[in-house]
Amino acid sequence: MGDKSNLDRRDFIRATAAVAATSMLNNSTFAEITNVPRENWSGTYHFHTNKVFQPRTAADVAAAIGSVKEVRALGTRHSFNGIADSTSAQISTLGLKDVQVNAAEHTVKAGGGIRLGELAEIIDKQGWALHNLPSLPHISLAGCISTATHGSGVKNGNISTAIREVEFVSADGKLHTLSRAKDADTFPGAVVALGALGVITNLTVDLHPRFDVAQSVYENLSFDQLQHNLVDIMGAAYSVSLFTHWQNNRADQVWIKRRVENGENHQLPEMFYGATLAKKKLHPAGPQMDATGCTEQGGSIGPWYERLPHFKLAFTPSSGHEIQTEYFVPLEHGYEAIRAVETLRDRITPHLIVTEVRTIAADDLWMSMAYQRPSLAIHFTWKPEEAAILDVLPAIEAKLAPFHPRPHWAKVFTLPKQEITARYPRLNDFRTLVKKYDPNGEFANDFMKKSVLA
Ligand SMILES: Cc1cc2nc3c(=O)[nH]c(=O)nc-3n(C[C@H](O)[C@H](O)[C@H](O)COP(=O)(O)OP(=O)(O)OC[C@H]3O[C@@H](n4cnc5c(N)ncnc54)[C@H](O)[C@@H]3O)c2cc1C
Repeated sequence: MGDKSNLDRRDFIRATAAVAATSMLNNSTFAEITNVPRENWSGTYHFHTNKVFQPRTAADVAAAIGSVKEVRALGTRHSFNGIADSTSAQISTLGLKDVQVNAAEHTVKAGGGIRLGELAEIIDKQGWALHNLPSLPHISLAGCISTATHGSGVKNGNISTAIREVEFVSADGKLHTLSRAKDADTFPGAVVALGALGVITNLTVDLHPRFDVAQSVYENLSFDQLQHNLVDIMGAAYSVSLFTHWQNNRADQVWIKRRVENGENHQLPEMFYGATLAKKKLHPAGPQMDATGCTEQGGSIGPWYERLPHFKLAFTPSSGHEIQTEYFVPLEHGYEAIRAVETLRDRITPHLIVTEVRTIAADDLWMSMAYQRPSLAIHFTWKPEEAAILDVLPAIEAKLAPFHPRPHWAKVFTLPKQEITARYPRLNDFRTLVKKYDPNGEFANDFMKKSVLA
């Protein structure tokens, strides 16, 4: 597939167009590269093509798209399923990294391939911040917002909610810009677009004045406390995460990330809903894990981008040898959902590294897991034991069924398309939008066909 030795008429036209686009832009190149691993970051998913382009401009992206029959954009390979896969070719976006702050507009225009951590350092130096970050700063900006990647905080939308404009190259090689202000009818479908509309070249992102954060960890929060206090606990600071192994009726750790206003770092109480302030730095998976690569704790103040993620950019995040799963349920049913999953604890724990529970504010992005639902997300970092995980996931999904769970697009799940369809009220509008920009399904890989497209 996508091999030029087998050109039909359509291929010929596309190849000619690609050459024209290339020569028009002064020797632009979209050469294939060979140094991109053919598996995801944790080595648990293997890609089905060896053809990878790494363009540096939108024109090169157009030329690369025009040179093959089917293609998918590839960020930093941190997804756990086939969402970024292709049997034909991938366009690595890591060459698209320009950054331009617009202080008057409170925005930054950034290349889709820049890593969050690199972007954060640049904008912080100029006095700006993003409103939130996920657990790791290692991922690309476009990969992050294409799958509705999120951090925590009852008032914090996922990172995609900060996008003001999306610039992408569609299947016909044309460059489009859709904006929140001018394209209200399509923009909400074009941000969390799962790579289906084309290759994002640039994103314009909302900025906030830079701020500091202090992070503290508490140990052993009884699940009983969640029955009446879940929203208060999760809303006790700017960003709060619970970590559990599902045993002993408790969250083993509570990570609290407080915004520090005016340099005031208040002493935290020794107790938090019965949990005790940790005396040493901890890895979320437990005290047996080396916490060197984790962001600083103990209430020390640091810049937003060195506290909101759990892991430091210069270290391997999480465990490195893992598979991930995550389900989003309405926050109002959060406690019941946690208790429902807990009933499976003895099936879950043997295969689990750790579970994290977070909150995400509702948004209006059609394919966001938090679409019009203030959400509680129950995440599983699994040991790399695929067969056991695929065995237990249907049981977890059945337990969560009363709460209409939406799986994280970038993680492993087994929910069938008909159930996913029922959980996304604007899915048909999204499919129509995909048809508009990709009428021949050139960005439609097996994952999209199996779980999303009609
Ligand atoms: C250790 C670890 C921790 C994580 N923590 C979190 C977390 O805290 N919160 C959370 O929500 N998720 C988390 N994730 C999941 C991660 O955020 C998503 O997998 C994210 O999509 C990865 O971005 P990426 O750059 O690696 O994209 P890839 O995995 O390479 O691609 C993901 C999708 O984005 C598309 N895409 C990438 N670039 C472009 C582009 N330029 N144009 C169009 N489409 C594009 C791809 O086609 C694909 O569909 C974590 C993952 C790991 C490995």
